[in-house]
Amino acid sequence: MDPGDDVGPAASKPLKKIIPRQKVPTGKFRSCILVGTLICILIVGLSAAYAQESNRQPKKTRIIVLDPGHGGRDSGARGPENAIEKNIVMTFAKAMTARLKTSYHVILTRKDDYQVSLFDRTAMANHNKADLFISLHTGASYRSNPRGISVFYYEGNKGPSAGAGFQDDRQAESSQPIQNWEQQRSHLTGKSRYFVKLLQKRLSTKYPDLTFYSGNAPVVVLAGARMPAALIEIGHITNPMDAKALNDEAWRAALAGHICDAIDDFFSDDLSL
Ligand SMILES: [Zn+2]
Repeated sequence: MDPGDDVGPAASKPLKKIIPRQKVPTGKFRSCILVGTLICILIVGLSAAYAQESNRQPKKTRIIVLDPGHGGRDSGARGPENAIEKNIVMTFAKAMTARLKTSYHVILTRKDDYQVSLFDRTAMANHNKADLFISLHTGASYRSNPRGISVFYYEGNKGPSAGAGFQDDRQAESSQPIQNWEQQRSHLTGKSRYFVKLLQKRLSTKYPDLTFYSGNAPVVVLAGARMPAALIEIGHITNPMDAKALNDEAWRAALAGHICDAIDDFFSDDLSL
């Protein structure tokens, strides 16, 4: 027996006399409880439906700005097979958009054959707070044998000379200093390089014989970008083999798909982008 146990006469009294009688809800109060319960059920139901809907549809939280180079009077480079850079990169950007738009919000710096300044192209990416900016071009050379894909990122003006193949809007910008860019944007360079690395991995797997070059270059259109950015030359338009491929819609669609796979790789990795 424990101390405090009631052994007196009160212990044998009926419970109903000891426990205070609970109040029975009135009709009005009962209605309030019923309405409250129904509201809770409705909220839970809607939340479940919303969650289900969210799982079905990809979250388009990432913004990708694609920049088809040139346009309008600026045709870009030309090659055999009547290959014209501005047209090729436009169709290429549209092929990429078709592939990406189910998972990302995609913005094109130009949607047709008209001119857009380099400043406006970069500004469009910055204004829209893009998560990735990709400028599309073809390589070109005075000689016909260079071919393959080249990818450039911006690391300030300390890169190598642009050299052969660099012209028009890819030319070096050395007279326009960018204040403290290296300090302010150095973290973006690493992410840009990482994207290029993923792209090289994808493309080298799909095209074992591909000539792939990547490196830092003082590319104007990338210089002011406030996000990971790269310029991709999707082939050498002055090379007969590349020009033929660039004019082939099926080839363009395949390459666009592989580049988009690399974009998926980039965003699936946790880089705190
Ligand atoms: Zn170009």
